[in-house]
Amino acid sequence: MKITDLKARICYNSRGEKSIEVDVIIDDKYIGRAASPSGASTGKHEAVSFPKNVEDSLSLLLSNKNRFIGLDPSKEDTIYQALKSIDNTDNYSIIGGSIAYAVSIAAADSASKALSLPLFQLIGKSLNNNTDYKFPYPLGNVLGGGAHAGPGTPDIQEFLIVPVGARNIRDALETNFRIHKAVREAIKKRDKDFTFGRGDEGAWAPKMNNEEAIKVVEEAIKDSGYVFRKDVAIGIDFASSSLWKDPFYIYARSDKKRDRREQIEYVSALIRDYKLIYAEDPVHEEAFDDMRELTSRFPDVYITGDDLLVTNKERLRRAIEEKSCNAAILKVNQAGSLYDAILFAGDANRNNIRIVTSHRSGESIDAHIAHIAIATNSKMLKAGVVGGERIAKLNELIRINEEYALPLTSL
Ligand code: PEP
Ligand code: MG
Repeated sequence: MKITDLKARICYNSRGEKSIEVDVIIDDKYIGRAASPSGASTGKHEAVSFPKNVEDSLSLLLSNKNRFIGLDPSKEDTIYQALKSIDNTDNYSIIGGSIAYAVSIAAADSASKALSLPLFQLIGKSLNNNTDYKFPYPLGNVLGGGAHAGPGTPDIQEFLIVPVGARNIRDALETNFRIHKAVREAIKKRDKDFTFGRGDEGAWAPKMNNEEAIKVVEEAIKDSGYVFRKDVAIGIDFASSSLWKDPFYIYARSDKKRDRREQIEYVSALIRDYKLIYAEDPVHEEAFDDMRELTSRFPDVYITGDDLLVTNKERLRRAIEEKSCNAAILKVNQAGSLYDAILFAGDANRNNIRIVTSHRSGESIDAHIAHIAIATNSKMLKAGVVGGERIAKLNELIRINEEYALPLTSL
């Protein structure tokens, strides 16, 4: 099995921004395809998406296309080495992380087609050679603000739900769909002028402060007939780096500011009051010590690093040494190539850091992350609830279920 051609083009993501799509063709017969996603609340230490612009990254790739011809696309490390022969920087600051993403995922996609092997099995083999695959719980963004929505919405980026009592993946997805709708109704009850506006990831974006927002989500869970926390739990992505203006977290929309200590106490109160199962980036991306404090206070809660770790092995190592988190977001494009993400996932699993595979706010209609979540033994898949580019991932779980009937993982 050999790569016989590689094509690449500028395409557009769910925000209508330029992105890169790559086709990897093997044995003149099988086509693998992937388009790179893009974040709005990006971490400082992520791979650089496009160092100059999309056009320059595309022409650099095309002028180096021969480096990929003849390679075996099922070997993630071989594709990684070819990328490194063009760009040996740690953060893909020459060719761009978006190129590394699209080439490496398209290669794996083509290999999965040629081998008639689902992508999760192909990646799972190189990651841990285990066959004990499980479905992650879908982590659904139902209400949000921050960098994903406009003025008047909550300062906090994402209010999420986890269908912890679901019996199987379809039940889990349907629970999230039902509550997403119920959140709209609960908002309407408080704001008769609600326009049904939604943010970048399909979460409702009402004029509301953080406290009202979380109450609305709690109410929607109960109104839908679920037992709060037993059937459905709440999580929050604070995306705190977007709020941090040293030495304060600025909650501009609520006209409040909190220093480091106040932020820790604010997060702790929300975790206790709403029995949160999940808290992502509760403090800013350099605050390994404040993360450690929250992790030791709440060992049973997913204290999760996103901008803190940026799917980067070195930052994960530091977080493990300093006990800064017990869960990690995995976004392949933060790391760059699929192989970079596989190494990260291996380290996380070996050190009992629970993985949460995630979409970006600017997405493609690809479904690869559904497979990546299963392959990496992720506990949750953060892929939104509604919107075509979100549904693409969720419907892929349904297709996988039809063929493999995997059980849900344990949280
Ligand atoms: C996130 O912060 O977890 C997220 C998905 O948003 P973005 O893609 O904008 O970083
Ligand atoms: Mg995040």
